[in-house]
Amino acid sequence: MERKGILLVVSGFSGAGKGTLMKSLVESYDNYALSISMTTRKPREGEENGKAYFFVEESVFLEKIKEEKVIEYAQYCGNYYGTPKEYVEEMLHQGKDVILEIEIQGALKVKEKYPDALLLFVMPPSAEELKRRLVGRGTETEEVISQRLLRASEEAEGIEAYDYILINDKLEDCVKELHNLVMAAHNTPDRNQEFINHIRKELKGLLKGE
Ligand code: ADP
Ligand code: 5GP
Repeated sequence: MERKGILLVVSGFSGAGKGTLMKSLVESYDNYALSISMTTRKPREGEENGKAYFFVEESVFLEKIKEEKVIEYAQYCGNYYGTPKEYVEEMLHQGKDVILEIEIQGALKVKEKYPDALLLFVMPPSAEELKRRLVGRGTETEEVISQRLLRASEEAEGIEAYDYILINDKLEDCVKELHNLVMAAHNTPDRNQEFINHIRKELKGLLKGE
């Protein structure tokens, strides 16, 4: 029976470790495809165009929205971020579990469009540790860090909309836990309706002596 890919939406406070987790997940297992978003944010040191993001001007971004080439988009701390549609649909079609690492407004829009998407929220073990990680990453100014912490506090109000939370304390443990959740999600009845119907039909056939 054909294995359908799961659309996996991963959100979490800035600095919780989403990027680090996703990198380790795709390196450790081969069933995942990581969607690359478009953004109008400027690249951080070391971020290559087409790897972390497609870095674009605002005019290009708005054009893609008009052409309906994005699944969702949102504004976050003054910049636009959006998910290109074509890659996601192609990878799902190929049976890959596709990861969207996006913020909460986008996550909710994805859930509307793809009701069987799996929504995960990554959390740090404590708020203090979150700040330590954000500061330790050394990629944002103090002002941007404050904006992101404020945004984290707003996002914390929406966590109940997600299917699971994941606490990123020890990285390797968290990667395994995440992978286990996705593997378990493949076994829900609603994602296996075709197989269930097939067995039902076979059973009826057996009873009739076919
Ligand atoms: P996000 O993508 O959620 O903004 P990052 O993946 O960039 O977060 O991680 C923020 C910082 O925290 C990075 O410097 C990263 O190396 C560090 N980090 C990530 N996960 C852990 C962890 N489990 N323990 C300690 N530090 C971590
Ligand atoms: P960063 O600037 O730290 O790379 O990302 C800021 C926030 O934007 C993060 O919460 C990240 O998950 C989110 N983000 C990244 N890409 C997208 C996207 O395509 N759509 C939405 N809605 N959010 C995104």
